[in-house]
Amino acid sequence: MILITGGAGYIGSHTVLNFLKDKYDVVVFDSLETGHIETVEELQKAGNVIFEKGDLRNIEDIERVFEKHSIEAVIHFAAFSLVGESVPNPAKYYRNNTFGTLNLLDTMVKHNVKKIIFSSTCATYGEPQYTPIDEKHPQNPINPYGASKLMVERIMADYDKAYGLKSVKLRYFNVAGCDTQGRVGEWHDPETHLIPNILKSVFGNGQTFKIFGDDYNTPDGTCIRDYVNVEDLAQAHKLAYLWLEKENRSEVFNLGTENGNSVKEVFDTCEKVLNQNIKVEIAPRRPGDPATLFANANKAKSVLNWKPETSLEHSIETAYKFEQKLQNLEKND
Ligand code: UDP
Repeated sequence: MILITGGAGYIGSHTVLNFLKDKYDVVVFDSLETGHIETVEELQKAGNVIFEKGDLRNIEDIERVFEKHSIEAVIHFAAFSLVGESVPNPAKYYRNNTFGTLNLLDTMVKHNVKKIIFSSTCATYGEPQYTPIDEKHPQNPINPYGASKLMVERIMADYDKAYGLKSVKLRYFNVAGCDTQGRVGEWHDPETHLIPNILKSVFGNGQTFKIFGDDYNTPDGTCIRDYVNVEDLAQAHKLAYLWLEKENRSEVFNLGTENGNSVKEVFDTCEKVLNQNIKVEIAPRRPGDPATLFANANKAKSVLNWKPETSLEHSIETAYKFEQKLQNLEKND
């Protein structure tokens, strides 16, 4: 069985669906602190999913899962992921993302499970010294979230040397879109991300969408990011897992489309896809936002044979469909 931690969360749930499509048996481990039981229920409708509720900060919780199930490999998403929150609250991030992962790795070593795919981030690079960013770019994170993930990357390198535990670290850029069938999606509370924030404003949640800064040194003055579709990203996890099974060595890959889109371009694409004008305001810059971030993902393309093919339009369409579902849930609450 494959253990997927954080499988009730955004990227984790899409990855579970991807593995179910190929008839894998999956154990989802999630504390449901930011994940959702409704997501688990959708996953269970799609295939053989055993749900284990637990928190990586308690080693007994994860120990119990390894005692109970025959785990062959781990795909590890469980983490907190709000950059903004990590600055005033670093302990929350180091305790869950770093210390929690240490508990997971120790349990794996104890049970002789030696393969893990890890959800890392381009936030480990910090302020870009050049773009596109490749895997050799220096890693100097500028917030505790990025630092908590970078520490895990380093711990994993040491666990390979010490115990032969092999890891594939996947450094994502911006993730967008939802399951094409609308079963699972991006469901954060509070929501801070660009596309769901634009879409929420369309549903009249009382807040006009705000562009954080239009005076950056970019062609239209707004920040440029690399929006990779979540189903493409899930497929990258599958390919990384198959690669690790075959190669049995540790590696790191960037995952992005290699295309930069500005905030204004994303906004305009939302208006086009929805075929309506959306209200917008220009607000001050958000602290900690670099002007331009996009990936060099050549390595994932050539080594894993990964092809991020989904358009930004499709990501917005699926995100909109899922947002409609969330709005209906809220209405019925
Ligand atoms: N952004 C924005 N308004 C919002 C949310 C985000 O203008 O309501 C901008 C943000 O400043 C950044 C880009 O959109 O330049 C992507 O932000 P997001 O939070 O989605 O991802 P991040 O790049 O921070 O991981």
